[in-house]
Amino acid sequence: MIDHRKLGRELELFCSDPLAGAGLPIWLPAGAAARHAVEEYVYERQRRAGYQHVVSPPLGKRELFELSGHAEHFGEDMFPPMRMSPDDELVLRPSLCPHHALVFAARGRSYRELPLRIAELGGMFRSERSGVLGGLSRVRAISLNDGHTFCAPGQLVDEVCRELEFIRQAHADLGVRASGFRLSLRGEGAKFVDDPVMWARASDVLRSALHRAGIAFDEAPGEAAFYGPKIDIQVRDDAGREQTLSTVQVDYGKPARFGLSYVAADGSREVPVMIHRSMVGSMERLFAHLIEVHGGAFPAWYAPVQLEVLPLSAEQEDAAWAVHRSGVAAGLRAEVSAAGSLGARVRQSALRKVPYAAVIGPREAASGQVALRLRDGRELPPMPVAAALEMIGGVVKSRSFDLSG
Ligand SMILES: [Zn+2]
Repeated sequence: MIDHRKLGRELELFCSDPLAGAGLPIWLPAGAAARHAVEEYVYERQRRAGYQHVVSPPLGKRELFELSGHAEHFGEDMFPPMRMSPDDELVLRPSLCPHHALVFAARGRSYRELPLRIAELGGMFRSERSGVLGGLSRVRAISLNDGHTFCAPGQLVDEVCRELEFIRQAHADLGVRASGFRLSLRGEGAKFVDDPVMWARASDVLRSALHRAGIAFDEAPGEAAFYGPKIDIQVRDDAGREQTLSTVQVDYGKPARFGLSYVAADGSREVPVMIHRSMVGSMERLFAHLIEVHGGAFPAWYAPVQLEVLPLSAEQEDAAWAVHRSGVAAGLRAEVSAAGSLGARVRQSALRKVPYAAVIGPREAASGQVALRLRDGRELPPMPVAAALEMIGGVVKSRSFDLSG
């Protein structure tokens, strides 16, 4: 069984330290390099999809989360407030929605701006019990790939379909394996906002979008967010436990709570509907899944080190560093490994799941060539350095899963 915690330790992707606290992992250089590559991808995809990125703080006044309904319906999952003075309390935010509602409210809005898509890769917190914490899959400090679309009611189904397609494309690029789509509905109890008409309308929108997209799904009563139903895209870990990765939610309630409105085509004031969505979930949960799905051998485009240069002996070290410089200049994450026997270094490189090892012996050094060994054991005939870098660059750029291009 593949356990992301064990692989994460062996590949030095992240570590946990009791002194830092449970559920508060630290991303080591290799894990951070892979995560940054994925974050750049997320930003790029969102920009192309018409999202505008914002940056908002991971904590805010308690009143902000009272207005949003989190304090009432989600309070048990929040950390205790920090009291600065009797009338000034700050809380670590349990979600980004309230700040994004304030982005909408930052100036007057017209129907011409809708759908208005706001995105952020931002921090939020969840006061999980220490017993359920583990590795990256359940943490207390979360970096969420979040987005909120403010739109007119008539735009909802189109927007939800668009998000579902967007999510499927991202999963294909990253190698995420979804185990199923779930329509999470309201259940019994005070956890859920009491507005039956709103729940029925929002559930119908999501059901229509799933049907139109031709996606098979299960219904799960009681699994909705407190403010509305959601489509959850589930992944399963190697032990068979299911978790939600990506999600699309329809929310008729929060815009009214925040007093949001826009000027409609006829000059009247209308309240927008809010779609909450996450393309790939939190960076923590995403990587817990990616580490297990790929067995630590990430596709070249987000591998922590993409090219490891291995000189046969000390005489080829200058040539190795020259290849390293060219690789870095071409935008690759490259390293030189010169200590120890070549066999041991080749084995070490494969154990670290580095996609490309470039071996340089006397012949290669003299002719400006490298002999590439791929992580899967294949060996390519010697080729000019420029050709090798171009091939690797092409695999990275196209986000191909096939290392030979
Ligand atoms: Zn939200």
